[in-house]
Amino acid sequence: MIHSVYIHIPFCKHICSYCDFCKVLYDSSLADAYLDQLVLEVKEKYQHEEIRTIYIGGGTPSSLTLAQLQRLFTIIDSFQLAADCEITIEANFDSLTEEKIAYLSQKVNRISLGVETISSKLQSVIDRVELQTDIRKKISLLRQYQINNINLDIMYALPGETLADVEADVDFLLSLDVPHISAYSLILEDHTLLSLQKPKLISEELDEKMYRLIETKLEKAGYHHYEVSNYAKPGSYACHNLVYWTNQYYYGFGVGAASYLPGKRITNSRSLTKYLQGIKDYEQEIITNQDAIEYEIIVGLRLASGIDKQAFMKRYQIPLSACYAYQSLVEKGLLEETKNHVLVTKSYQYVLNEVILQFLDTKIANKCLE
Ligand code: SF4
Repeated sequence: MIHSVYIHIPFCKHICSYCDFCKVLYDSSLADAYLDQLVLEVKEKYQHEEIRTIYIGGGTPSSLTLAQLQRLFTIIDSFQLAADCEITIEANFDSLTEEKIAYLSQKVNRISLGVETISSKLQSVIDRVELQTDIRKKISLLRQYQINNINLDIMYALPGETLADVEADVDFLLSLDVPHISAYSLILEDHTLLSLQKPKLISEELDEKMYRLIETKLEKAGYHHYEVSNYAKPGSYACHNLVYWTNQYYYGFGVGAASYLPGKRITNSRSLTKYLQGIKDYEQEIITNQDAIEYEIIVGLRLASGIDKQAFMKRYQIPLSACYAYQSLVEKGLLEETKNHVLVTKSYQYVLNEVILQFLDTKIANKCLE
């Protein structure tokens, strides 16, 4: 069954130099036309399941005007929402006015904002401006309006970044005392403005030091490093993201959005022109049982708790150990196995992708998986 929805809002007031997301500069009439198409897409695809998590991402959803946000939430209101449905919206500090916060406080129960870095030297590298005073003011306003479930993103391994810069960013986040923090290492995507500038990247050794510094400081402050890039205070895990990491189904609406449905993954075209014209251009990937099992491994090992063996057995009617001979990796110390879980050993989480590849290599030829 499908219980989760992702909605993509591709508009931004400013384009950051490293950004590879599906986005365009905000334009009021384009945004109105986009919302018209979004209504049609939801009507066409949504099968009236109970929805337990919604994530409104982008782009920058808060770049919409108040009237456009109100239209967006008429779409959200058309879903059959579970009483405790987690509704997250992404925002940036600049476009988040008090008027929008007051409205969103009636409509969402979680918000995710990008700080990225407070260093002005590094902000100029990624072409962003986030003022510490504005960040503090907006966080305080969100709390005044009872939006307490706040995620802040930071980015590290930026060209020219030092350990002291990372420490200053983390200290700043800690001073805000939010329940959830995401920390991403910069990935230089080919066709972005930043990659064209050919910046000198930091060394892998420094990248690892930054990863471990962030982990040490956040864990010391009471955050649980529950997913390779995500930290939460107790009880504040991101329910929608857990849907991805436990390989559950979800709808994706909007330009470039992907839906994971039983037996298939459907990804809308990234062309806004086609989307606005109502042209149904998408890629469909058939997901076999073996594909689903591989995704389960790839996403499940991202979690500190790892893969739930009982849930795996229930879903695929076969034990994990009958699909993969991963014991050799347990013996090497790359994995740990408990009664119910198989997980990547903490010291190897930094090289997670390498461990995942080695895990997949232990596949056992098995008729059940064909
Ligand atoms: S605000 Fe976010 S989506 Fe928009 S350009 Fe910057 S990084 Fe990309």
